[in-house]
Amino acid sequence: MKLFIAKEPGRQETRAAMLPSDAGKLIQLGAEVEVAAGIGRAINVTDEEYEKAGAKVSSDSKASLVAEMVLRVGVPDTDDVEQIGEGAIHVSLLDPFNNTEVVQALAARRVSAISLEMIPRTTIAQKMDVLSSQANLAGYVAVILAASRQNKILPMMMTPAGTIAPARVFVIGAGVAGLQAIATAKRLGARVDAFDVRPDAQEQILSLGAKPLKVDLGETGQTKDGYAKKLTDEQLAKQREAMARQCALSDIVITTAKVFGKKAPLIVTNEMIDGMQPGSVIVDLAVETGGNVEGSKPEKEVQRHGVTIIGRVELPRRVPVAASQMFSSNLYNFVEHFWHKETKRFILNREDAIIQGCLITHAGEIVHPAIQEAIA
Ligand code: NAD
Repeated sequence: MKLFIAKEPGRQETRAAMLPSDAGKLIQLGAEVEVAAGIGRAINVTDEEYEKAGAKVSSDSKASLVAEMVLRVGVPDTDDVEQIGEGAIHVSLLDPFNNTEVVQALAARRVSAISLEMIPRTTIAQKMDVLSSQANLAGYVAVILAASRQNKILPMMMTPAGTIAPARVFVIGAGVAGLQAIATAKRLGARVDAFDVRPDAQEQILSLGAKPLKVDLGETGQTKDGYAKKLTDEQLAKQREAMARQCALSDIVITTAKVFGKKAPLIVTNEMIDGMQPGSVIVDLAVETGGNVEGSKPEKEVQRHGVTIIGRVELPRRVPVAASQMFSSNLYNFVEHFWHKETKRFILNREDAIIQGCLITHAGEIVHPAIQEAIA
């Protein structure tokens, strides 16, 4: 079976979908692997390294057309879709709720499109969970970015010249990214408070040495997949009131609050920002899905009353070596999980719960119920 690791759409992507080591492992399974020339450039991996691992390197822009499976990191654009063979399997991030035009183009081309974000968050699928591996890095980068924009230091310092108090960091949303942000800020010596609407998160916040902020919002709960449920308007208003006090006390605020398949809740309002000390920094990790912070803009750093609001998207691109390593490993695990050893082929088993969760288009149709509903 011929697999093609494609070029990434746009110039901003720094990650490579697959490293030579994982390409080599796929070849050992019996796959024929071809990679687009230069895919490892941003992480200093050469085409020769892919060749040494047994892959073919191609500069031909039409090479992907003959592959039975095309893999990449980012959402393909409609031109990329034209370069996928009819009836082939395409595996990538797809953000299908927000890229309806691309989803429709994939369906029209009869591509079986796998959206890596939609892989169910089950124990068996953990090894292929791209959302978690990349969110982990985003949490780390958010803190490093905020620390580099601060005019203060994070740790407490007791010196003969006096004592400097530790910076205060407030993390809103303690999922995968939020927990890593807490851990990173703690390692740098900050005093960390955090809040999440899921009651289970309290224990995790405590286990990292941070202080969970207690706000009584009444029934919040979570979905069967572990995601937060959308708050009512009254609950959100109550949350903002409690967060305002904490934001005013904090030097750095990191927001990561998301609700699966929906716009992110607006939590930090202009009024709350105006209550913060000049020189403080906010990083909005939810900016791509609407933002948790009023006025935050994708790929921009905005100033308001001396507070810097950072809305950089796709933070894992800033640490592409680690991000590629994890992405590549997730992708290999996904392919290997459905690989049939005798026929040496990937089996798109539509009875399997993982495939049911992440298959968006197939045989000319949009087959995922939630995406059908979102597009209807
Ligand atoms: P996410 O990116 O969807 O959201 C980030 C966090 O924001 C979540 O913790 C959510 O509860 C929180 N949030 C939503 N609305 C909020 C609000 N108004 N205020 C404050 N916080 C708010 O979440 P995620 O990081 O993808 O994790 C989602 C869940 O999946 C978690 O329960 C996590 O433990 C679980 N998970 C399970 C597995 C697995 O079993 N394989 C893997 C990864 C994550």
